[in-house]
Amino acid sequence: MTDQSCLFCRIVAGEIPATEVYSDETSVAFRDLNPKAPVHVLIVPRNHISSISEMSVDDEQEIGHLFRVAGIIAQAEEIAETGYRTVINTGENAGQSVFHIHVHLLGGRSLAWPPG
Ligand code: 5GP
Ligand code: ZN
Repeated sequence: MTDQSCLFCRIVAGEIPATEVYSDETSVAFRDLNPKAPVHVLIVPRNHISSISEMSVDDEQEIGHLFRVAGIIAQAEEIAETGYRTVINTGENAGQSVFHIHVHLLGGRSLAWPPG
């Protein structure tokens, strides 16, 4: 399923350029336009799922897959040993700005906890 008004659907479709770092049958990963760490990659499902709150049981495998992809990219970006963070923002209080589920993969520097 694709939503023509969705930025990340359009990136997945190749209609809007992005620096892709990984892609497979169900997911695509590309560099964040406004990186918050030396490595900041967004990993998205090819299917349009707007947020964790809208996930159905049928989406479980596809969303779980995003985290395995995060591990693969972390190895490739050489941040696996030093560590990294995987985050999904959901809704207003978390600052979600694009309503197509995406895992932020952040690394390459020390990351504070708790997040702001
Ligand atoms: P959210 O705030 O929804 O968790 O994350 C959305 C992310 O998408 C932000 O980190 C933002 O910098 C990134 N972003 C917004 N527009 C674009 C774009 O056109 N291309 C890319 N590569 N990233 C984008
Ligand atoms: Zn979408």
